[in-house]
Amino acid sequence: MIYLDNAATTPVDPEVANVIHEALLENYYNPSSVYQAGKKNKHLINQARQQIKELIHLPKADLYFTSGATEANNWAILSQAKKAKALGYGHHIVATAIEHPSVLEVLKYLETQGFDITYLKPHDLNFSIEQFIAATTPQTIGWVAMLVNNELGARLPIEELGKIAKDHVKWFHVDAVQAFGHGKVDLEALNATSYSASGHKLGAPKGIGFLAYQPWDEKMTLQPLLHGGGQEAGLRSGTENLPYILGLTKAFELANQANLDNVSELASYLMNQLKQKGIQFERNGAHQVPYIVNLYFPNIDASQLLVQTDLANIAISAGSACSAGSLELSHVLSAYYPNDDKRHHQSIRLSFGKQNTKEEIDTFIQQLINLKERTKQLWHSQQPQH
Ligand code: PMP
Repeated sequence: MIYLDNAATTPVDPEVANVIHEALLENYYNPSSVYQAGKKNKHLINQARQQIKELIHLPKADLYFTSGATEANNWAILSQAKKAKALGYGHHIVATAIEHPSVLEVLKYLETQGFDITYLKPHDLNFSIEQFIAATTPQTIGWVAMLVNNELGARLPIEELGKIAKDHVKWFHVDAVQAFGHGKVDLEALNATSYSASGHKLGAPKGIGFLAYQPWDEKMTLQPLLHGGGQEAGLRSGTENLPYILGLTKAFELANQANLDNVSELASYLMNQLKQKGIQFERNGAHQVPYIVNLYFPNIDASQLLVQTDLANIAISAGSACSAGSLELSHVLSAYYPNDDKRHHQSIRLSFGKQNTKEEIDTFIQQLINLKERTKQLWHSQQPQH
């Protein structure tokens, strides 16, 4: 299998799997137990927490382990929105229209609870701080913007927003899921109040992630998500998943510059080869990270290309339509390219991981060429014969 869909999920890194395997067999004691083996597990969790905070450069934040980023996004937004409203700060939120559904659906829910949301679309393929400021009113409590968009790989200007956010709002949530796994990420430089992450995007399994929380206002305390035995500082009860927490820590340790260099080389190689072979294409979005490449191939039907690549055992994603098995058009492409229906049906996403090679890209391109040839032949055979 040629796997070029690493933004959907990544293979579990063998080193991460080893750490998990060992902990499953050796560290099964309940971290809340009073005997030494239990206490040692609690210590390992807190050590892991500290280590991850250092690896993402967020030493002063509180970090809570969650089941993944859907949970972390829900928790961060619901807690901060409701707390700010309860404190009388307001009820309006400004968010980008290109957020992941685990953010957009929470905002939609908040609209049923008396909140107003403004959704910003890119101007000329970009988001600007001016857009956020213009949408902000005296009622605005929070801003929401993702660091890297999962469909186009667009990197949003979070540093710039972070520099001014505190002057305009009470909280700023950043979905940082697609930023990890390739080189170092310095979250402290972003100046947001909360960040979400998900292990399965960087070589850890599904079912583990975190919420990092660093409020600007001490009254903005994080509200409990799950009530019960008081784990995770009493805010997210439930027996901790130590093996996965250790696996997640290992995955963060392994995310280094070499991974970033590898995926950058692959992205350049892909685009150079397409040019050399005379295949017309356009890369969707702007300010993209190298590991997510969303391509518009005029006159190539994306669903046909997906079937063709699937038959050749290559895993890629539709750039837009048919995501998650649905026929809905991509809200991200719609925000970037309104009134460009063709692009929706003629775009695909490739996303690279450290295991990918140039040979795999060659195989993908060959499939693309085969499809073009077949389409051409079909077109000719359907022309009236004279
Ligand atoms: N945010 C982004 C940007 C994502 O790409 C994803 C996963 N597709 C999520 C949130 C949700 O993460 P999880 O699968 O851990 O719930």
